[in-house]
Amino acid sequence: MQELLFLLLPVAMAYGWFMGRNSIKQNNQTEKQDLSIKYSTGLNYLLSNQQDKAIEYLLETLKVEDDTVEAHFAMANLFRRRGELDRALKVHEHLVRQAHLPSKDKQQAIFELGKDFLSAGLYDRAEAMFNKLLKSKDYGLKSINNLLKIYQSTKDWQLGIGLKKAIVKAKDKKTLHTLANFYCELATDALKKDEFIEVIELLEQALELDPQSCRANWLMAKIYENHQQFEQACQCYQSIYQQDKEFFPDVINNMHHCYSKLDAEDEFFVFIRKVYEETGSTSALLKYLEHIESKHGVNKAIEFILSALKRRPTIKGFKHFVKMQMVGSGKESNGDSLDVIKELVTAYLNMKPRYSCRTCGFNSSTHSWSCPSCHDWEQLKPVRGLEGE
Ligand SMILES: [Zn+2]
Repeated sequence: MQELLFLLLPVAMAYGWFMGRNSIKQNNQTEKQDLSIKYSTGLNYLLSNQQDKAIEYLLETLKVEDDTVEAHFAMANLFRRRGELDRALKVHEHLVRQAHLPSKDKQQAIFELGKDFLSAGLYDRAEAMFNKLLKSKDYGLKSINNLLKIYQSTKDWQLGIGLKKAIVKAKDKKTLHTLANFYCELATDALKKDEFIEVIELLEQALELDPQSCRANWLMAKIYENHQQFEQACQCYQSIYQQDKEFFPDVINNMHHCYSKLDAEDEFFVFIRKVYEETGSTSALLKYLEHIESKHGVNKAIEFILSALKRRPTIKGFKHFVKMQMVGSGKESNGDSLDVIKELVTAYLNMKPRYSCRTCGFNSSTHSWSCPSCHDWEQLKPVRGLEGE
């Protein structure tokens, strides 16, 4: 009898294992069924436009676990996209409160909560969230960029500079470029007070972060010019050309002034001719015409602009051509009609924006270093094409 029992033991173990497995399967199935009922009830609330009831229901009934956390994020993001920030906040706060959430999900919840606060204009609370994530591998850089956004809108340039160490470590070009502009903002304030050494020091730091910042060189040229150091100013203007050919038309007149102070106008016009040949810029063309006119007379200058306009017509160039014709024209009646054309073209050009943002396409008649629409730095540049450069 004992032997028989001994023989039945493996059978009993196998039966136990089989039943156990079945019961786990059954439990899982019951849980899944339960979950799908809760989901569909929540979704029904959502679809029948009872969002608040849906949130309350889903947050109360659904435990935040690995397989529901994504659904929570999706729901909150949907609310945020629809501008229902209070609802998005509720869900993200609920996620942040979950003690057992894996670290990556917890960080995502804190980050999204920061974005909710940022969208709602609650900067101090958003700042607190992003500051928690500075060392995060996944959200560190994104948090820094959001903090810089906050400091940019509150003009707290020093607070942004406080993040320098983390920004340099992240080595992200765009973030370095943004921080360089924070230094430029401080340098602009110092320039207004004519604090020479402070301006130079701030701009050197800006150029160290972003050697391509033409704004830093533009400010540097200004302070040198103010202090009669024209040679250094000219070097800065040349650097601007190397850094950003599209921005260069805006500094041509200042550059001309510095070269003339150095009594080196011939050198300047050699440079401007090179700029014109390389970029086709109308501002460079018009500046070069001044040189031709003074050296060889108005007729030679008209010949030059005519062939230039045939190759690359621009309205600004045409306006100058009409002006030159008026000077060359002896007959009064002819002069009158040219005057009408010139006035018409001037009125047309005044209606057109002089700058456009290379990031978002925003147009503006005045220049600003940060785009009023997308807030990107140094992207507002002279308009190109027929109505521009
Ligand atoms: Zn823009």
